[in-house]
Amino acid sequence: MSDKYLQFANSKIGKPILSMLGLPKPPRLTREDQDNPHQLSDNLLCGISTAALYGTQIKQSLEATDLIFVDDNAQTCNLVFDASGVRSTEQASELYQFFHNHLSKLPRCGRVVIIGQQPNNISSTEHAIAQRGLVGFVKSIAKEIGRKGATANLIYLNGFGHKGLAAPLRFLLSAGCAYTNGQIINVTTPVTGVSSSYNWQQPLKGQSIVVTGAARGIGLAMSQVLARDGARVIGVDVPMAQEQLEKAMAEINGVALALDITAEDAPQKLIDCCTQYSKKLQGIVHNAGITRDKMLSRMSDEQWQLLVDINIGSVQRINQAILATDMLDQGGRIVGVASISGIAGNLGQSNYAYSKSAVIGMVDSMASSCVDRGITINAVAPGFIETKMTAAIPFATRQFGRRLCSLSQGGLPQDVAEVVGFFLSPQASGVNGNTVRVCGQNLMGA
Ligand code: NAD
Repeated sequence: MSDKYLQFANSKIGKPILSMLGLPKPPRLTREDQDNPHQLSDNLLCGISTAALYGTQIKQSLEATDLIFVDDNAQTCNLVFDASGVRSTEQASELYQFFHNHLSKLPRCGRVVIIGQQPNNISSTEHAIAQRGLVGFVKSIAKEIGRKGATANLIYLNGFGHKGLAAPLRFLLSAGCAYTNGQIINVTTPVTGVSSSYNWQQPLKGQSIVVTGAARGIGLAMSQVLARDGARVIGVDVPMAQEQLEKAMAEINGVALALDITAEDAPQKLIDCCTQYSKKLQGIVHNAGITRDKMLSRMSDEQWQLLVDINIGSVQRINQAILATDMLDQGGRIVGVASISGIAGNLGQSNYAYSKSAVIGMVDSMASSCVDRGITINAVAPGFIETKMTAAIPFATRQFGRRLCSLSQGGLPQDVAEVVGFFLSPQASGVNGNTVRVCGQNLMGA
């Protein structure tokens, strides 16, 4: 459903009227060009704190891009600051100084990335405190620049060098990060080796990836984005949606599998279908999900059971069956789809919030056992995304839901799909155990 307010706010008549009334003016966001994605070609200014760990590696991580590294005198530029060297709260003045001097140079839909060290793994208390402060800083900057359609995010590294840095840095500087704002991506030692020759334009070339709930909405956008990036998508959806699913998969040379994921034999049918095409599976995205909103006292058993079974029960059964084989070993990816409701809770959504919180629990609890097999597991937590699910929300609540974030608008299914594509890419093998919100920095649970 189109956001008429967003269109009005960006029209010649709308702009001055909204300014006069002091109402929010949601900016138009720049997104990946579907015909020519993953291009990085803006000016970039890098700041480096004293004794920073990654400063010299930022350039290496951004090789094979058309970025122009500029100096302090540049008029407009995106900003990366390596704050890993900030070892005390006094030294945080370097961070302040860099952004104080340069934040106004950020272009419309510009990007800010701060690089720090994961505080939990720092032995010095003073250093850990100084690094933890980066979270509040980046989230506040994200709020300041959101009205320009710009985003600010933080990468916490674990001290192993630039190989794990390249994928998150490139993603957070890209147009794919249009609706990912105020987030922290934790990067650990890559679970598999990171190849130095890498296809940044078609990162998923030759990969087989399952997407559930692929007939429409976010799952359809994921299928399209993953196919754009070179993957063969095995799209799954309920038999009732078979026609829609087959049409969608035909358009991207994918495979359609009409299957209710809650069926007892669904895990085996899924594995059988995948093995017809390849012995290995590079990824599975558990996107299928439903809502059945009701206040808890009026919620029927069926509304609870069915939802929990689709949103998390069947996900667990499918993971279990796949992990009983070696299909995903050495490079595979599992991606869950949570929700900000699973982080903040939501009125009338106790069933949904339970299931989506459980998806986050799945990521947290499985991350370390996955590492041993060279697999990563991560989740996205979408906020208000423009789909049939959110089009069903009553008008006033829908308007309110859209404006509740720093970017003052709902996201598009493509925005969630781009983050999923980043998780799935071979170079992101140091990104494990993360739940990244794709919510434009929604206030819910922030
Ligand atoms: P949607 O209703 O448009 O699409 C969901 C798809 O899942 C449908 O095609 C449906 O047929 C399929 N599906 C449902 N039950 C299934 C089953 N048993 N077996 C196989 N397929 C099944 O929803 P959407 O808005 O695209 O949401 C996709 C995911 O994103 C869901 O997990 C949802 O909870 C999550 N999410 C959406 C939003 C949002 O704002 N739209 C926000 C947060 C999270």
